[in-house]
Amino acid sequence: MSIIDNKKQPSFHIRTFGCQMNDRDSEIMGQLLAEQGYVESMEIEDADVVIVNTCSIRAKAEQKAMSLLGALRKAKKSRPGMRICVAGCVAQQEGLELCERMSHVDLVLGTQNLYALADLLKNLDGTQKVAITLSDAYEIPAFIPTLPAIREYSVDQIDSNPAPASHPFRKFLTIMQGCNNFCTYCVVPYTRGREVSRKVKDILDEAHALVDAGISEITLLGQNVNSYGRTNSVTPDGGSYSFSQLLREVAAIQGLKRLRFTTSNPKDLSSELMRCFGEIAILCPQFHLPVQSGSNAVLSRMNRKYTRELYLQQVKELRSFRPDIALSTDVIVGFPGESDADFEQTMELLEEVRFHSSFSFKYSDRPGTRSADFADKVEELVKSERLTRFQHRQDEICLEQNLLYVGKVLPVMIEKLTQDGMVGRTESNHIVHIEGKIACIPGDITSVTIHHAGRHSLNGRLNSTQQKGAA
Ligand code: SF4
Repeated sequence: MSIIDNKKQPSFHIRTFGCQMNDRDSEIMGQLLAEQGYVESMEIEDADVVIVNTCSIRAKAEQKAMSLLGALRKAKKSRPGMRICVAGCVAQQEGLELCERMSHVDLVLGTQNLYALADLLKNLDGTQKVAITLSDAYEIPAFIPTLPAIREYSVDQIDSNPAPASHPFRKFLTIMQGCNNFCTYCVVPYTRGREVSRKVKDILDEAHALVDAGISEITLLGQNVNSYGRTNSVTPDGGSYSFSQLLREVAAIQGLKRLRFTTSNPKDLSSELMRCFGEIAILCPQFHLPVQSGSNAVLSRMNRKYTRELYLQQVKELRSFRPDIALSTDVIVGFPGESDADFEQTMELLEEVRFHSSFSFKYSDRPGTRSADFADKVEELVKSERLTRFQHRQDEICLEQNLLYVGKVLPVMIEKLTQDGMVGRTESNHIVHIEGKIACIPGDITSVTIHHAGRHSLNGRLNSTQQKGAA
C-alpha cells in the first residue's frame, strides 16, 4: 500500500546538500508534494517520506549525505513504513546501485526527474526499489507552483556561490539545467546532463507569479547562465534569444525590486551582458565570476577555455559600466600540475582584481572526471599551504574593500528583525546589521548609513530620511 493510500496527510522532510541548484530543486520537490496534500515535517524522525538531495561536486558534501543515509537505516528499522528517496547528483551517478548498496533506500531520483516525484511515491509500496535517471532528450517542464514554498530550506552550503538560500521575499528562479562545458574537474555535465534552457514564456510566467506573490528579489539560476538559449530554442518562433534579453524582460516586471543571477563562465561573458550592469536599474551591482586559477597553463588543463588576460579585460569592462560592482570568484588551488609559479599567478590576479569575496578550495579528485586521471597530483601539504595563503590575503582584501563602504548611505533590503535591530542586505550582497527598527516586512528596502565594516558584514544606522519601501 502506498503512503498516499495509507494516510490522509502524509508528511515529508527534505535535507539538501551542495549548491543552489539543489536548493531550488528541493524547494520544487517540496512544492510538488504540498500540492499533493503532503505536509512538511520539521523532524526527520517523524516524516513518512525523507528526501536526501545530494551533491557530488565536492567530496565533503557527498560524505555528509552518505552519513545521513547511514543514520536513516536505523530510523527505518524502527519505522519500516518510512520511504527514503535519494535525489540529486549522487542519485544520478549511482542509480539502482545505490538501492543495492543501501537496502533501506526506496527511490533514487535523477537530477532531471524531480517533477516525477509525487507520481513515483504514489506507486511505491515498499516492496520494490525504483531508480530513474537522466534521459537523452530533456525539456524542463513548465512549473508554476500554486502553493508557496514550504519554508526556507537550509542547504548544507559548501558550494561556491555567495547568494543566499531562498527566503519568502527572495527566490531563485531556475532558467536552465545542465552544462556543456566539461571542465576537467567537474561532474556536472555527467550528473545534470547537457545544457537545456527553459522557455522564455515559462520563466516570465514564473517571475510574474513570484512578484504577484510578494517576492521582492529574484536570482536567475543556471550552471552557466551566459549561454542561456544557445543549445535549444526558447521562443515559439525558434529565433535567437540571449540571456541579456531575458534579464531585461524580467527586470521590466512591475514590483520587482532587485534582480541577480548566477553562475557565469567567463568564456561566454558578452559585452552585451556586461552593459546590462550599467543600464538595468534593479540589476544588483554584484557579480560572481569564477576564475578558478590565474595561470593560463592551469586554465588550459582545466579546459576552462579562457585566459587570465581575457578575465582581466572583462573585469575592466565590468567596472567601466558599474565602478561599484562587487566581484566575487571561485578558486581551486593545487590542481594537478599546478606549480609554485602557477600559484603565484593566482595570487597576482587576486591583487589585481581585489575581489570582494571568494570561495577557494583545495583540489580533490571526483570520480568520473578527467582530472582524476591526471598525473602530477599536488601534495596535500602544499595544497593546504597555498589555500591558507590565498585565504589569508583574501580576508585582508575583503576587509579593505568593506571599509570603503564606511560613511556611505546604502539601500538595504530588510531580511529579518532581531532583538536589537534589523538585518538586511546591500545591493552588493553584503549583510548589514542595522541599529534601530522601523515598521517594515522582509523585502522592504530602507536607507542605512554604514558606520563599521568587518570582513564578512557591515554595521549601519537607519538614515534619518529613510522611508519604508524606498531606497
Ligand atoms: S562550467 Fe565547468 S565547472 Fe561550471 S558546471 Fe560546467 S563543467 Fe562544471
